[in-house]
Parts: sequence; C-alpha cells; structure tokens
Amino acid sequence: MSTFDIDDPLRFEEQLSEDDRMIMESAREYAQEHLEPRAVKGNQEEYFDPSIPGELAELGLLGSFVDPKYGGSGASQTAYGLIAREVERVDSGYRSFMSVQSSLVMHPIAKFGTEEQKQKYLPKLSNAELIGCFGLTEPDHGSDPGSLETVALKTDGGWRITGNKMWITNSPIADIAIVWAKAKENKDEEGTIRGFIVEADAKGYSAPKTKGKMSLRASETGEINLEEVFVPDENVFPEVTGLKGPFSCLNSARYGIAWGTVGAAEFCYRKSRQYALERKQFGQPIGSTQLVQTKLANMLTDITAMQQLVLRLGQLRDRGEDHPSMISLAKRNNSMKALEIARTARDIHGGNGIMGEYRVIHHLMNLETVITYEGTHDIHGLILGREITGEQAFT
Ligand SMILES: Cc1cc2nc3c(=O)[nH]c(=O)nc-3n(C[C@H](O)[C@H](O)[C@H](O)COP(=O)(O)OP(=O)(O)OC[C@H]3O[C@@H](n4cnc5c(N)ncnc54)[C@H](O)[C@@H]3O)c2cc1C
Repeated sequence: MSTFDIDDPLRFEEQLSEDDRMIMESAREYAQEHLEPRAVKGNQEEYFDPSIPGELAELGLLGSFVDPKYGGSGASQTAYGLIAREVERVDSGYRSFMSVQSSLVMHPIAKFGTEEQKQKYLPKLSNAELIGCFGLTEPDHGSDPGSLETVALKTDGGWRITGNKMWITNSPIADIAIVWAKAKENKDEEGTIRGFIVEADAKGYSAPKTKGKMSLRASETGEINLEEVFVPDENVFPEVTGLKGPFSCLNSARYGIAWGTVGAAEFCYRKSRQYALERKQFGQPIGSTQLVQTKLANMLTDITAMQQLVLRLGQLRDRGEDHPSMISLAKRNNSMKALEIARTARDIHGGNGIMGEYRVIHHLMNLETVITYEGTHDIHGLILGREITGEQAFT
C-alpha cells in the first residue's frame, strides 16, 4: 500500500517533468522567502514593493515561456502555471503583476509583434527594465470589450489615440501599455480593433492610481487616459485585428489564473488544518469535530481536482492542443472553488479569521477580484454554454 500525503493526495507533483519541477522549486523558494514576509504590509498599506519586478526577473519568472533569443526562459506552459501557483500562494496581487507582464504584455508582443518590436521591448520586459500594462476594459465596457470606444485615428506616420481605460493592473507603474482601440482611417468609419504599444511618456497619456480597493491591495491598479496620444506606425501590431488579439492574451492570462488559484486554495487549506489542530473549544481541538473535519475533507478534495485539471490543461497547451473553452472551464471552476475554500478557511479561523495576520481573509478578498477579472464567473459560464449548445446567450 502507498502512503497518503495530506498536502498532495494523488501525488500531483510526481507527474511533473524534471525541468518543470526545478522551476517550481525555485519560484516556491523565492515566494516563501521574499514575498511571504511582505504580504501583510502589502495588503494593509496598499503597497507594491518596487523591487519585486527585478527580483522576479532575476529568476527568469517574467515571460518564462518567451523564446530565450528575446530574453525569455523558453519554459513550458506547465512551468508558467507552476510559477503562478507559487506566487499566488502568497498573494493574488503579486501574481497579477507577473501575469500582466508575462501574458498580457510579453505574449502579444511575442505573438503579434514585428521583429523590431520584439527586439526593442521583450528583453527589457523580461529583465524588468520596463514594466507593462494591458488596456482593454473601459468605464462602460467590461464584459463586452467588443463595444470599446477608444479610437485610434490615422494621421501622418502614425495614429492619434483618444479614450479612457479603467481597472488596468500595473498602469500607475507602467512604462508601456498595450492599448486596444478602434483603428479608423477617418473619424466617420466604424473602425476595427487593433493593438498599439503606447509609451507612457507620450504627450497626452496619464495613468492615475485607483486607490481604496478592498481586494488585490498589493497590486497597482489604475486608469489610462489618452488624449490624442501620438503612436508611430512602427508601434502597431501589424496583422492582428478584431477581438482575436486581446482574446489570445486573455487566454494566456486566464490559464495562469486557473493555476494561481490552486496556490491560494492550498494556502487556505493548510492554514485551516493547522489552526483546527491547535484551537481548542469544549475541551478538544476543533479539528476533532465532525463538522470541521468534513470542511477540511471538502477543501482537500476540491484542491486535488483543481490540481489535476490545470496539469492536464498545461499538458494540452504544451502540445498546442488546448481550446479557449477548456481555459474558460478551468478559470471558472478553479476561481470559484478557491473562493469557496478561502471563505471556509475564514470560518474555521473564527474571529481570528478576520485578522490580516492570519492571511485567510486576505486571500478571500483577493479572490473576489480573481473571480471577476479576465471574464467573470458567469461570462465563462456563457462561453461554455455556447460551446455546449451552439447557442449564444450573451444578449
Ligand atoms: C483589480 C482589477 C484588475 C483588473 N485588471 C485589468 C487589466 O489589467 N486590464 C483590463 O483590460 N481589465 C482589467 N480588469 C477589468 C476586468 O477584466 C473587468 O472588471 C471584468 O471583465 C468585468 O467587467 P466589469 O467590471 O465592467 O463588469 P460588467 O461587465 O459590468 O459585469 C457586471 C455583472 O454583470 C454580469 N454580466 C455582464 N454581462 C452579462 C450577460 N450578458 N449575461 C449575464 N450576466 C452578465 C457579470 O457577470 C457581472 O456579474 C481588472 C479588474 C479588476 C477589478
């Protein structure tokens, strides 16, 4: 008979390749030694330590899947997921920084950029000399980005972009923004969505910080306001048009989120087990009661399913055989399960569960964003529903 590991019952980590395991271990060591000690301050003071990007870069954790000839590590998609899991075990906000830089900024440049764009931006994004952000969402267009109103009007040698983006991760600290706008040859045209690399020092560009978030407090979030910002022709993605461009980026980021939530859930489960064994009521550890034991059993069962789901998805993605609806399924399931696990962890911790230092309400609050951004729970349900029935139910 084999043994039963209470942290990894189906021996999920045993299935990893040697290369992936080494990347996971290096991300874990860094996250536990250098991110975990900053987590409470980051959350309580709404503070993103500016040395974090450089530290992640030094370990090759930014754009890990990008070709080494552009400064990436050429790591697998599974490794990218494992990095997200380790960083989000500490804070979904730190993982959001890493996801945006990797999936929403480096990925589109690597996939849709010209050779000049790749050479100019990727190595500097990979070593954190440049920070990037991704502007799709607008004040009036979140779940329905196809209706976005930001306009890029053609002019001599480039484009003039006007519009407002909201809820943009990293925007207050970003040097460049990938901005999605309706490109028009003249202002009366309907326009087609295209992606632009906008440099933050361009005239007419500003990115004020959104203060007072109760979730993802250690992540920098802001607006992007563009007033006739000039972007030269060489900063447009030449080929990709329509929602295909932003959706390809979102697929990559959603995939990372599905993995990241496993780390947050594992943290909450392990803290709850430890607390349940230490905390005594009615003369016995609360962990010896049937109710608390079944709560822990449910957590571990869900985590085990979440792990296997993303591992299989990563293998398919590494073979180029994934599908956007597979990613919707995993992002939707794992975000909701992690949120439920964090809520149960808060409950098991009783009154202490509302204290920042115990870190479970920290994950719970963060996961409220995770279940909302990159497509809400219900929007992913509609994507799956359309796949299952062939019927579109968005309107
Ligand atoms: C902290 C944070 C960071 C973010 N970072 C970024 C970023 O870096 N870049 C970026 O571009 N965006 C970013 N976002 C934006 C995020 O992707 C959007 O918030 C998300 O897509 C939802 O859009 P919305 O907030 O406008 O909500 P809405 O679209 O207004 O949705 C509100 C509610 O209506 C429901 N709903 C909407 N349409 C339907 C429908 N057809 N049928 C049934 N229900 C529906 C939704 O499920 C939801 O429950 C971020 C958001 C947050 C909170």
